Amino acid sequence: MAEKIFLASPHMSDEGYEQHYVKEAFDTNWIAPLGTNVNEFEKELATKVGIGHAAALSAGTAALHMALKAVGVGEGDIVLCQDLTFSATANPIIYQKAIPVFIDSDFETWNMSPAALEQAFEKYGNQVKAVMVVHLYGLAANLDPIIALCEKYNVPLIEDAAESLGTTYKGQYTGTFGAYGIFSFNGNKIITTSGGGMLVSNDEERIAKVRFWSTQARDNARHYQHSELGFNYRMSNVIAGVGRGQLKVLDERIAKKKYIYEYYKRELGGLEGVHMMPMNEWQDSNCWLTCITLSGQVKPLDIMLALEEENIESRPIWKPMHMQPFFEAYDFIGEGVSQELFENGVCLPSDTKMSDVDLERIVGIIKGLF
Ligand SMILES: *Cc1c(COP(=O)(O)O)cnc(C)c1O
Repeated sequence: MAEKIFLASPHMSDEGYEQHYVKEAFDTNWIAPLGTNVNEFEKELATKVGIGHAAALSAGTAALHMALKAVGVGEGDIVLCQDLTFSATANPIIYQKAIPVFIDSDFETWNMSPAALEQAFEKYGNQVKAVMVVHLYGLAANLDPIIALCEKYNVPLIEDAAESLGTTYKGQYTGTFGAYGIFSFNGNKIITTSGGGMLVSNDEERIAKVRFWSTQARDNARHYQHSELGFNYRMSNVIAGVGRGQLKVLDERIAKKKYIYEYYKRELGGLEGVHMMPMNEWQDSNCWLTCITLSGQVKPLDIMLALEEENIESRPIWKPMHMQPFFEAYDFIGEGVSQELFENGVCLPSDTKMSDVDLERIVGIIKGLF
């Protein structure tokens, strides 16, 4: 069997930065509770993306949950959530006993359609307590009209930038436009801590509050006293060391991801019925995963099966939330764009450890189908 090629797998620095910070945590016995690595990782990430404050948490999902809580979403509130995404975006709405309404994508961005968002605002008016936009696969959503609608209806925007760390929209990093933004350091993301997440905001007080909720909401008292519901959501100081090291190679990873995208575009972009994911001129994408859609004889499953046979991993586009059995009962505003992207799309192997020989192998297999 040929050596396995992954869709996207952890890629530690050649310099061993991650091990250096982890060793430091061991040497100082800052294994727990919090410590220098957590504090510095928060500061370094906030500086990198150009935002005031950050809270390091156990997962991107935890960060989304805390964002909803921070904007005050509670029982019975409506949250307008991008339909085409990973379920981790939508699940925390249910944790807060709120009601998701799923918003379709547009073909121009693959992310939230401003037109569908406007329809949803017209339908639900002042019941809406938050909007959750996603920057899928590292592609920036069309933020200007989305922000304009949020301002018009005076509703806070939460950006799920789990997949778009390093992507800019009109020169500013995604994740820093909304009231809150979140990043994920799950194993397959552009940088990883094996698992972890970050909540970012310019609201210092609310970020401090999130740190409080995330460490069991322990009041400032000698005994264990709790005036609010707590969560155990903080990132460990060991893991934060991995994050600090990974942050040093983020730009290097982005450069390789872009190289991979350009390689596929050059080799596959001209094939009958192959369409590259949209690269709007107002964004600079981190190209986390290179995705294509197909409109000809060759179907996504043909590509996935042919690659699988050669021990190469690929994946369908996210299955929309309104098509998920768990979320079926909730409202969906749109025209079937997310479903069409799901049915016709495929994520190509985008592992930054791939060599040109690996890429040649992959495009060779795909071209063989045409
Ligand atoms: C990975 C991901 C998340 C969840 O992040 P975790 O760190 O795995 O909890 C949320 N939203 C999107 C779009 C993701 O891809």
